[in-house]
Amino acid sequence: MAKRDHFVCDRENCNFCCTDPSTQINMTLLDIKWLSDFMKLTVKELFEKEFVTFIPFLKAKDFSVFEVDFGMKRPCPLYIDNKCSVYEGRPMNCRMFPYWFITNRIEDDLDCIKSVEPSPANFIKYRTYERVIGEILLRQGKETEEFIKRIGATQTIDLSDEPDLKRLLKIYKKRSEENDKTSMRLAKRLMRIAHEKVDRKRLDLKIELINDEINKMNFDKDIEMLINAEAILDGTITGLNADYDPSDLQKP
Ligand code: SF4
Ligand code: SF4
Repeated sequence: MAKRDHFVCDRENCNFCCTDPSTQINMTLLDIKWLSDFMKLTVKELFEKEFVTFIPFLKAKDFSVFEVDFGMKRPCPLYIDNKCSVYEGRPMNCRMFPYWFITNRIEDDLDCIKSVEPSPANFIKYRTYERVIGEILLRQGKETEEFIKRIGATQTIDLSDEPDLKRLLKIYKKRSEENDKTSMRLAKRLMRIAHEKVDRKRLDLKIELINDEINKMNFDKDIEMLINAEAILDGTITGLNADYDPSDLQKP
């Protein structure tokens, strides 16, 4: 395959990162605030419309323990007409993809990753972008985790007794085409079970509080950093929400 010197998103033929159940997107408080300002909806409305929701994320390497965090459903309800309808206001996890794979030369089957061999100039831009977003993500991720604990919304889901998990662990390390397919099927089923076990009624009672708390917070410094980071990418991507110009990004 001929390599390109920059990242190209082929939205006409691919929607993997926005729709596939394996691409979990968690959200920080900053992401929720940014999306709420961008969509001109309150934080409460974002939850009511399920643009942001409570998602179980895997916490242990053995696939057994999930912790509930803020995130987006799969397929993403904001993926409309083959594009991201909130591109300027998308969460940081969406912003990071796939630069982290490209700059760390992580192998992946996706064409948009394996077809890129960035020019030295683009490599520096992608790396700088990824590091700035990564720094904000780390800081905001920690604050979000503490926030979830503080408001009593922590929820752990343990699937260690699920028969499907036992089957998955048995075959996971014995790589073969057949086992890979079965592993994927079992992992998806376990994800579905984890979703069903989330106590949404209890978490829904916290939405009003989440709305009020986020509105009291000040995200100005990180928002400024994020806007500056987006400008770094200007002219280095094609095919991705083509009508979007990162240098036009304004504070919401
Ligand atoms: S970024 Fe890659 S995986 Fe995501 S839609 Fe574009 S081509 Fe597909
Ligand atoms: S917010 Fe946009 S980029 Fe992120 S998953 Fe949804 S549609 Fe895709």
